[in-house]
This record gives sequence, structure tokens and C-alpha cells, in this order.
Amino acid sequence: MIKVAINGYGTIGKRVADAVAAQKDMKVIGVSKTRPNAEAFVAKQRGYPLYIADLSKKAAFEKVGLSVAGSVEDMCKAADIIVDATPGDVGATNKPLYEKLGKKALWQGGEEHEIAGFSFNSSCNYKDAIGRQFVRVVSCNTTGLCRIINAIDTEYGVEHVHAIMVRRGSDPGEIKKGPIDAIVLDPVSVPSHHGPDVLSVLPHISITTMAMIVPTTMMHMHAIRITTKKEVSRDRVIELVKNHPRLGLIKKSAGIRSTAELKEFAMDLGRPRSDLYENCIFEESIYANKNDLCFFQAIHQEADVVVENIDAIRAMMGGQKDGAASIKTTNDALGFIPIQNNH
Ligand code: NAD
Repeated sequence: MIKVAINGYGTIGKRVADAVAAQKDMKVIGVSKTRPNAEAFVAKQRGYPLYIADLSKKAAFEKVGLSVAGSVEDMCKAADIIVDATPGDVGATNKPLYEKLGKKALWQGGEEHEIAGFSFNSSCNYKDAIGRQFVRVVSCNTTGLCRIINAIDTEYGVEHVHAIMVRRGSDPGEIKKGPIDAIVLDPVSVPSHHGPDVLSVLPHISITTMAMIVPTTMMHMHAIRITTKKEVSRDRVIELVKNHPRLGLIKKSAGIRSTAELKEFAMDLGRPRSDLYENCIFEESIYANKNDLCFFQAIHQEADVVVENIDAIRAMMGGQKDGAASIKTTNDALGFIPIQNNH
């Protein structure tokens, strides 16, 4: 049984904790919080031992009925591996602790590639993560890009990718971020950081990305154009998407043409937290002409990286050498059935 600690129990950390708890080969030995808030009560309800970054705040937790198991250092000592899901750039400050304790750790996409020297995506480079001490799971947008680019590259060869990301302004629970009434270029200059980030996983791909932030919280939307080396077939692309364990196809029959309807569908299906772990590729948008492939895909920023974290843990611990088998184990344990099989 792999003993996993979650340092930073927020949007990503709480989802990774539940996904770890659902696996037969791993368990949550603790989660950490900086302050007693609603998420800390959820950790208590789930039965996850609660550790805190600053022990001087212990009384504040205990005053509201949250027992504290110890410090973050205590939690890390008890773990085989630490999932660092603290906010971007905070994770880097934790690296000396993991090094001091000689523990394995994985970070999220808010950290630079250099923090681990290896950026991970289950479908692209699982084998290269086997046995590593440090890994970075790439961001939600990069995860969504890597999955589909790798699938098309494997089948047709990719000449160039041009992707435009329409990004959500904040996660649903965040009340201090925006924009409220603007479309913000992110950044004004081209390329956005997403293209270079894809190269941290797929270094041979030629890619240009542009990004903007809009006033929505639900999902990101990508408009993607791929020039392929071999002539591309629309039917075959649909088949590739349907057969991929982390790609989802939103069929025409569902009548969905927005992120709002997609999240409503996920809620109605009873997905935990209405999470969409898969890329949501709109069937009707798939356009193929000679070497030109275009489509829209929606990415649920809070969810797609969660399943990747689970596979990264398995690869780093070295018990499972086969990436496809890990992906299947992760998906099955979560009861996750890609969305095309639900309609
Ligand atoms: P978050 O703010 O929702 O959660 C972070 C948690 O860490 C909070 O509970 C906070 O209290 C805690 N924390 C802060 N400082 C800490 C410290 N020093 N020690 C222990 N805990 C501490 O952040 P998030 O959205 O979950 O993002 C976490 C990471 O995941 C970032 O690198 C982010 O870029 C990445 N990521 C986020 C998303 C997303 O859409 N939210 C998607 C993909 C990747």
C-alpha cells in the first residue's frame, strides 16, 4: 500500500485525496491546511488526518473542533510520497523539506518544469517517470493539449499545432479573482506559455499557442488546428477519441454547445463534484480536410490533472511499469467512464 500525503488541500489537493482513497494500491495518510475553513471540515468528514503548516495555529483549528495530527513535516515523514498541491510557486519552497527527508514528491503545473526536471502526462511519458524522486504534473491546459496532440501525432505525425485557449477567469469557489467584465489577453504577446509547456512533455512538437481569459468559472475551451504529416480522416479521428481512455467525445446527439451544458450533463450523470477528467471534444466541430484538422475541446481545469497525479504516483513508486494498465486501474477505481459512453 503506497502511503500518500497531500500537502495543500485545496481545489486540486482535495480531488487528488479522494482519487487516492479510491485506489486499492494507495491510501491517504494525511492532508495539510493553512487555516481552518470549509475544506478542513470536509477532510475531517472524509477521515483524512489533518496536518498544518504552522503549528502555532493549532489552537485555532482545535477551537472549531478540528483535531490536528501534527505538522506538515510530521505528515511528510509518515508518507512514501507527497503530492504537493499548494498554490503555484509555494510548492517550490517545500522542495528542501522533501529533499531533507529523502521523500518522493510531485508538484502541479503552477510550478516551473525545473522544480522536478521532468514534466508528466500519463498518455505520453509514463515510462520515463518510473522510479523518479521528483515529477511535475503539467497544468490542466497542457494536459488537455498533450493528450490529443500525442494521439494525433502517433497516428498521422504532427507538422504543426496552432491552439487558442479561452481560459476560465477563476475556479467556482474563488471570489477574489476575475475578470468580471473583460476579455483579458493572457498575455498580449504570442506565444502564450502553453506551447512551450507542451514541449516539456513532447519536445519534438511544433506548436504556437495564444490565450485569453474570460469571465467564466466552469471550464476552459480550446480551438485547435493541427497540420498533419499524413492525410487525416475525420472518421478515424473520431475513432481515436472514442478509444482513448482520457479523451471524451461530445456527440451531436447530446445537443451540447457550451461549457455550461457540459457541466450540467456531468452533474446529472452523478460525476463526483461534477468532475470531467477527460478532454471533451465536440464531435460536430471535428473538421478534416487533407492535412488540416480542426476541433473544439473543453477542459475541466479542476479535474483533468487529478487522474494524472494518480498515475504519476504509481509510476514513481515503480510497482506498475505499464502506463496503459495504470490508466485503466485509475479510471476503474474512480468508476470513470469517458463521456461518449454515457450518451
Ligand atoms: P488552491 O489555492 O485551491 O489550494 C491550495 C491549498 O494549499 C489551499 O488549501 C491552501 O490553504 C494550501 N496552502 C497554501 N500554502 C500552503 C503551505 N505553505 N503549506 C501547505 N498548504 C498550503 O490551489 P489549486 O487551484 O488547488 O492549485 C494548486 C496547484 O495546482 C497549483 O500549482 C496550480 O497551478 C495547479 N493547478 C490548478 C488548477 C486549477 O484549475 N485550480 C488546475 C491544474 C493545476
